Amino acid sequence: MGTALSRKACRVTLRRGGHDASLEEITTTQPAPVTEIREEQMQAQHRGTAWQALLDVLLPPQCRLCGARTAGEPVPWVCQRCWLAITYVVPPICQQCGQPLAAPPEGIASSTHRCGACLLHPPPYERARAVGLYDGVLRDAIHAMKYQRIYGLVQPLAALLHAQFACHWHDAMPEALVPVPLHRSRLRQREFDQACALARCLSQDTGIPLWADVLVRHRRTASQVGLDATQRRRNVQGAFTIRDSLRCQEKTLLLIDDVYTTGATARECARLLRQAGAVRVGIYALARVG
Ligand SMILES: [Zn+2]
Ligand SMILES: [Zn+2]
Repeated sequence: MGTALSRKACRVTLRRGGHDASLEEITTTQPAPVTEIREEQMQAQHRGTAWQALLDVLLPPQCRLCGARTAGEPVPWVCQRCWLAITYVVPPICQQCGQPLAAPPEGIASSTHRCGACLLHPPPYERARAVGLYDGVLRDAIHAMKYQRIYGLVQPLAALLHAQFACHWHDAMPEALVPVPLHRSRLRQREFDQACALARCLSQDTGIPLWADVLVRHRRTASQVGLDATQRRRNVQGAFTIRDSLRCQEKTLLLIDDVYTTGATARECARLLRQAGAVRVGIYALARVG
């Protein structure tokens, strides 16, 4: 771990050094001809590659999850072995909340099957889907992104959302992506809004607009862990508000979150978006509990 942290610090310093130098050049010298700029860019790129190669020798990159060497791996920070161990959500699932179900007996499987909870209290959203289960590698990778601030994991984790996007949403294509917001005190503490970061990447990958400011969490909520269904609902009740309800009218919207835990937050956000006039609301998370 110590090695990985030192390595991160080195990378930041090197990047900052290069950035400051180029800023200075821009403000103190006349514009250079295009060919010179290209040549300088190529030289800088070459220097960057050389530094990177040197760093790889001095401080070999390690998998944040198992400590194995990760040089040349397609996913930075996580080795291929760990990445391939992600537990994906597979059918049969509840067609509304996405809860994995025990395999139904032969002949009873139905594409419209819903779980008991959804039948008893129909959620205000049309459907919720998650890429994987919140355990093992996926949970560790999300924790590393959120709490250890390994921002290099945002892109590969968002790529998982993108890979399954068409499969889940082709028949309910959203007109905007709405990240589930953090309370500003939590944002100050964490300095990172993971749902917004994932939604931004997905927006870039799909071309679907990002509406990061339409939903606001104006009250900090307690952890949902250990609360029963009623307590969870009360915990998030009134915690969110819509900033621009006119924008939501007649829209198909997709809420984006890193983890779908109990569904109470998703229900509350979806309820507000529907109340503001959205015709369809879906939930798309990287991982779901159970
Ligand atoms: Zn690993
Ligand atoms: Zn369900």
